[in-house]
Amino acid sequence: MALRLFNTMSSQIEDFRPLRDHEVRMYACGPTVYDYGHIGNFRTFVAVDLLRRFLRQSGYQVRHVMNITDVDDKIIRNSARDGVSVQQYTAKYEKVFLEDAAMIGIEQPTLVRATEHIPEMADFVAKLVEKGFAYRTDDGSYYFRIAKFPRYGKLSKRDFTGMLDGARVDVDEYDKDSARDFALWKAPKPGEASWSTSIGPGRPGWHLECSVMSMHELGETFDLHAGGEDLVFPHHENEIAQSESFTGKPFAKFWFHARFLLVEGEKMSKSLGNFFTLRDLVLKGHKPSSIRYLLASVPYRNQMNFTFDGLKQAAVSVERLRNFRLRLNAANFEAGTIPEAQSLAAETVARMKAALDDDLNTAQAQAAIFEMVRQANAAFDTGGIKQDDVAPLLAALTKFDEIFVVLDDDDGTKMKRVLDWAVAEGREKDISTELCNAIQSGELSDADIEKKIDAMKSARTSRDFKTSDAIRAQLTEAGILVEITKEGIRWRRK
Ligand code: AMP
Ligand code: ZN
Repeated sequence: MALRLFNTMSSQIEDFRPLRDHEVRMYACGPTVYDYGHIGNFRTFVAVDLLRRFLRQSGYQVRHVMNITDVDDKIIRNSARDGVSVQQYTAKYEKVFLEDAAMIGIEQPTLVRATEHIPEMADFVAKLVEKGFAYRTDDGSYYFRIAKFPRYGKLSKRDFTGMLDGARVDVDEYDKDSARDFALWKAPKPGEASWSTSIGPGRPGWHLECSVMSMHELGETFDLHAGGEDLVFPHHENEIAQSESFTGKPFAKFWFHARFLLVEGEKMSKSLGNFFTLRDLVLKGHKPSSIRYLLASVPYRNQMNFTFDGLKQAAVSVERLRNFRLRLNAANFEAGTIPEAQSLAAETVARMKAALDDDLNTAQAQAAIFEMVRQANAAFDTGGIKQDDVAPLLAALTKFDEIFVVLDDDDGTKMKRVLDWAVAEGREKDISTELCNAIQSGELSDADIEKKIDAMKSARTSRDFKTSDAIRAQLTEAGILVEITKEGIRWRRK
C-alpha cells in the first residue's frame, strides 16, 4: 500500500504520486504575522507537519516551503497605529509564530517572506498584463480579469457563468459567492507602506505572493499545495488563475485542505471568550505535548472539536506512552524472544502505516499504538515479553513518534519559557497555579542533577568529552549552570 490522499481538485481520494520519483515538492500557506497564532491555525499547521513527516517516513525527500505573509491590510493598519515600520511590526510576530510552532513539534519548512520577493511580483504582474490577463486601473492598481480564465472556480466547484466582467474587489478576503476581478497589486494610499517597482509604486495583494513564491521555490508545476479549508476560495482559486495564466501549465497537482477547528462546538471568537492562542493554553497549565497530541488526534479532513476534556485526555495518553517506554527501558527481562510479542510489534508498525496511508488517518494510527501498549502491558505481567522483544517494541514506538512527536519530555522547559514570556509581557495575572505546579514537578531534583554530574565526571575520566559536553548541554537547557574547575565540577541553578 502506498499513500492515498484526498485531492480537493478532484474531490476524490487518489493515489499520491509525486511528479518526480522520490521527491515531494509541497507548499503550504503560512501565517499572516500580525498577532499571536490561535489553536485553529495550529490545527492546520500540525496537519501539514504530520503529512510532511509521513512523506519522509515513506521514503520521500520533502521540499516544503511556507510563506510568511508580512504585508497585508491588517499589518499595514496595525503598524501605522503603533507607529512602527511594517518590518518591525511583523518581526515580533514571526518570531512568536516560529517559537510556538517549535513548541508543539512542528518542523520548520523553508520560509519565504512576501516583502523579500516584491520585484518578482511586479514582473509577474507585468507579464500578466502583457498576456491580457490583467489590467491597470487609473489609480495605479492592477487586477486579474477572471473572465479571461474560463476554468475559474474549478477548485471550489463554483459556477461563475453570468458573472460581471470588470466588477472588481480590492480586499483580500471577500464574499464567498462574488466572482470579481481581484487585486494583484494595490496602489499606495496616503500614509501606507509601499514599494516602488517596475509597474509603479504599491504593494502586492495576498494571493499574488503565494503564486510567485511557490513557483520561484518549487517550479511552475509542483506536487502539493496546502492550507486550511477557508483558503479554497478565494485564495487558492486565485492562485490557480494567476499561476496557470502565467505559465500555461497546471499549477499544483494535489490540493490538501484541513477542516476547521471549533472550540467546545462553537466557532472560535474573541467575543465568545473561546479564542485561545497556544500560549493561553500553556498559561492554564497544559503541556505542549498534550496540545500536539490532541491536534493530531482528529484526521485532518474531519472537523475538530477542541475541548478541555479532550486536552486532559490527551495528557493522559501521552503519559501512558511515556511510561510504557520507561518500563521497556528499565525492566530486566529474561533472555530470548516470544513470537507473539514480535508479531505484535510488527503488526503495529503495519497498522500505523496502513492508517496513515489511508488519507492520513491519525486517529487509527494512535489507536494502533495504544492497542500495542495495552497488549504489551498485559504481557509484561505474565512474562510474555523477553529481552529480544524490547527492541522491536521500542522501534514501533519510535516509528509512531517520528510522526506524532510526543515521547520526549521537554514540556517543563517549554512551559518555563512561556512563563518567562508572560512575566516579560506583564501578564502575571494569567499565570495559573497549574502552570507553576507543572513546571516545578518537571524540574530536575538535586539528586537527578548529582547523578548527571557523576556521569559527566566518569565520562571525563575516560576522556569522553563528547558525552560530558552533551550532559552539560542538557543541564544548561534545564536551567543548571555547570562550572568545571580544577577542584572538580560545580553546579547551581540559574
Ligand atoms: P492566517 O494566519 O489567518 O492566514 O491562517 C493561517 C492558517 O490557519 C491558514 O491555513 C488558515 O486556513 C488556517 N486556519 C485559520 N483558522 C482556522 C481554524 N479555526 N481551524 C483550522 N485552520 C484554521
Ligand atoms: Zn497562500
